[in-house]
Amino acid sequence: MAILVYVENIEGKFKKSAFEVVSYAKAIANEQGTDVTALSIGNVADEELNKLAGFGASKILKVDQDQLNQFINKAYAAVIAAAAASEQADLIILSNSFSGKGLAPRLAAKLEAGLADGAMELPTFSGSDLQVKKTAFSNKAFATEVITATKKVIAVNPNSHEPVRDEASATIETLTPSLDAADLNIVIKDIVRATDKISLPEAEIVVSAGRGLKGPENWAIIEELAEVLGAATACSKPVSDAGWRPHSEHVGQTGIVVSPNLYIAIGISGAIQHLAGVSSSKTIVVINKDPEAPFFKVADYGIVGDALEIVPKLTAAIQAH
Ligand code: FAD
Repeated sequence: MAILVYVENIEGKFKKSAFEVVSYAKAIANEQGTDVTALSIGNVADEELNKLAGFGASKILKVDQDQLNQFINKAYAAVIAAAAASEQADLIILSNSFSGKGLAPRLAAKLEAGLADGAMELPTFSGSDLQVKKTAFSNKAFATEVITATKKVIAVNPNSHEPVRDEASATIETLTPSLDAADLNIVIKDIVRATDKISLPEAEIVVSAGRGLKGPENWAIIEELAEVLGAATACSKPVSDAGWRPHSEHVGQTGIVVSPNLYIAIGISGAIQHLAGVSSSKTIVVINKDPEAPFFKVADYGIVGDALEIVPKLTAAIQAH
């Protein structure tokens, strides 16, 4: 079974999720006695492409047509489908990232493949059937899905599979798929980056705050804690609804789903709609003045007290180390 992995880059540099999905594919390849081909779309230098070999890719396909430098869902799905055909790949793996969420179902439909999106573990095989555990219902539940179709697409949740070094040497080949005009009928003219901060869906540490912070004037303590931890900042829905923070930081059922190694929830009650976005975090720390706050039920560590006093002390203690 040939395996193709689509790896995402931002302005020519691979995202962490690129190494995660290559590692994920390599673990499957080792078990199945096959190799991993990675597919990169857009202008990426060979030096950067070679980094994929360090995580187990033995062949790297680059598609570097200029018109594909910006992500276009339809065109990227067409390119991945063309690469899957040229590699005769039956298993296609990508990240369940912001763009992967739109790409995976389109690709699966195009290939008439079975799709498991939101995979959180390595799959198991029974003959040619593949079984994988995934998140379901806006992260409120887990489901185990079996894909019986010959072609299979897996979209792996960011941060659910640590990249593992696996030094190999890889060949780099250029693929030039022919694209229909219809695949390129959406043209992105310009992207203006709103912030240089760490990307929330992929952050390894998230410092998140809720209405318990009382108002936007108190967010400096959240920013400072995030700064010393190298974390992304996030918030609950009422906070972004009130305009205290941008909507891009809103986490939960109706916002962004995160799965960091560490989620610090400050002054957030822990409503089910919020927990839907954070339940696959590896470690959850809750700071809340109410010992009965529901968030404590899912916390690994909890501090009961006033966030406005505790957070600056926590920041100072971390800085001191
Ligand atoms: P609150 O519920 O007001 O809680 C504030 C918390 O801060 C309390 O636990 C309090 O004890 C604590 N606190 C107060 N002062 C301090 C202090 N000084 N120090 C420490 N702690 C303090 N919410 C989301 O977040 N994300 C979603 O995606 C989302 N989607 C929704 C979808 C639907 C359809 C609906 C109906 C609701 C949705 N909500 C969502 C809203 C959700 O139900 C909650 O209302 C919301 O999460 C509560 O936000 P909060 O915890 O910041 O505020």
